[in-house]
Amino acid sequence: MIYRSTRSDLTATPAEAVLAGIAPDGGLYVPEKMEFPTFCAEETVKKDFFGIAAEVLFALFPDFSREEIEKIVRDAYTGKFDAEDLTPTVPVGDKYVLELFRGPTCAFKDVALSVLPHLMGKSREKCQVTDEIVILTATSGDTGKAALQGFQDVEGTKILVFYPNGGVSRVQRAQMVTQRGENTFVSAIEGNFDDAQTGVKAIFGDFAKNGTMKGTGARLSSANSINIGRLAPQIVYYFKAYGDLLRQGRITWGDKVDFVVPTGNFGDILAGYFALLMGLPVGKLVCASNKNNVLCDFIRTGTYDKRREFFKTDSPSMDILVSSNLERLLFLMAEGGAEEVARYMKALSEKGVYLVKPKLLNGICEFFSGYCTDDEGGADAIGRVWRENGYLMDPHTAVAWHCAEQFQREEERDCPVVVLSTASPFKFSAPVLRSIGESADEEEFALLEKLSRLSGLAIPPSLAELSSLPERHSGVIAKSAMADFVLEKVKA
Ligand SMILES: *Cc1c(COP(=O)(O)O)cnc(C)c1O
Repeated sequence: MIYRSTRSDLTATPAEAVLAGIAPDGGLYVPEKMEFPTFCAEETVKKDFFGIAAEVLFALFPDFSREEIEKIVRDAYTGKFDAEDLTPTVPVGDKYVLELFRGPTCAFKDVALSVLPHLMGKSREKCQVTDEIVILTATSGDTGKAALQGFQDVEGTKILVFYPNGGVSRVQRAQMVTQRGENTFVSAIEGNFDDAQTGVKAIFGDFAKNGTMKGTGARLSSANSINIGRLAPQIVYYFKAYGDLLRQGRITWGDKVDFVVPTGNFGDILAGYFALLMGLPVGKLVCASNKNNVLCDFIRTGTYDKRREFFKTDSPSMDILVSSNLERLLFLMAEGGAEEVARYMKALSEKGVYLVKPKLLNGICEFFSGYCTDDEGGADAIGRVWRENGYLMDPHTAVAWHCAEQFQREEERDCPVVVLSTASPFKFSAPVLRSIGESADEEEFALLEKLSRLSGLAIPPSLAELSSLPERHSGVIAKSAMADFVLEKVKA
């Protein structure tokens, strides 16, 4: 199987695609639609999480042996999640919630970032690369910690994370500065998230023109969802959720299931489309946006227009105006292939807007719907679901829940609806407390205790221990010092 760039006729083997992260032409690697692997989906959904993960990953990375994939899955997940089946599907009211936050950092990114380092390590062997792999990440909170946790002490890799000083929550900061591991490095920068992101991109540009950092024996790569190795593990839980509904007797094989996905960079929801292409009976994929509703507008109109105000919301991991992974969907659906996609992306970067052909939009709308809500809508959903069902959602999940309600009202569907839950409510205690009618004026760790007391839920152990762990990465540097920081750590 071969991966293709979304912007030209460049190709890569699965291992090369994982190692590179992004294609040299700026495109993203994806299989051609016709080349998507199919296998016996019905047999697959009946397996446990580990079994499904092995099937899905082996299908997408056939240059790995089955034994290698099985080892990667074991090493990635054994003992790391606090739910026995890793991603439970629980009935709540007339819907189901797929809980993806049971991993070590309490956000759904753990599912993929537990696997990526192991995939990368093996890819490095397969491509006979001896350079050390240096992962550079700018984070506004969730990705940084999940990547640090995933890459901690993985041989042949180092991970460096930059976050905006004062721009992340106390819990998120504590999660990062207390990170263990000999190969992990974290620094705050004086600036906002955009400064961190711009700095990281500049370092890629300066040092990585040939893919390697000259004189250091290191090459840079990415742990963001532009990496196909991030997307593949996310396909697994769609199969798992379908299997759960089957086992609970809610559906029979072949029945369609609708999924509602809190969306930012379009990675999570795209994995649902990959599951569909691989034979899972997926009905509609509902793209749930917060007030930054550029994707919702796109699905409804065919115009992607990033020239709009950027809002900071209670669901910060969805605060994004340029959703990278949409490019992969366009590639899979556009009749004009890479050439057509390259035109759209050029227009986006030069003019900030593009309009897709009506036929392409129709193709998208066959499988996708777009809905959005604001912080008030999300808070309302948290409060109601708590009072009526005794179930506590985080603000990202709440956006999806609210969108699921709109979807059920506006479209005539009779499929079960699964809402993907992407973070633990304890990661966002303040807005969650306010949504259930409580004050949230105490300092952050006191808020965790308060939420636990009121909800009767235990604080996830990885968050509970944070206030007592020693800080290992307390530094703050100027944004102009980022490149030197990277060089110093890479040489260390
Ligand atoms: C990253 C993230 C999202 C958005 O996922 P995408 O794959 O970027 O669309 C939603 N919720 C939470 C909690 C996240 O961390």
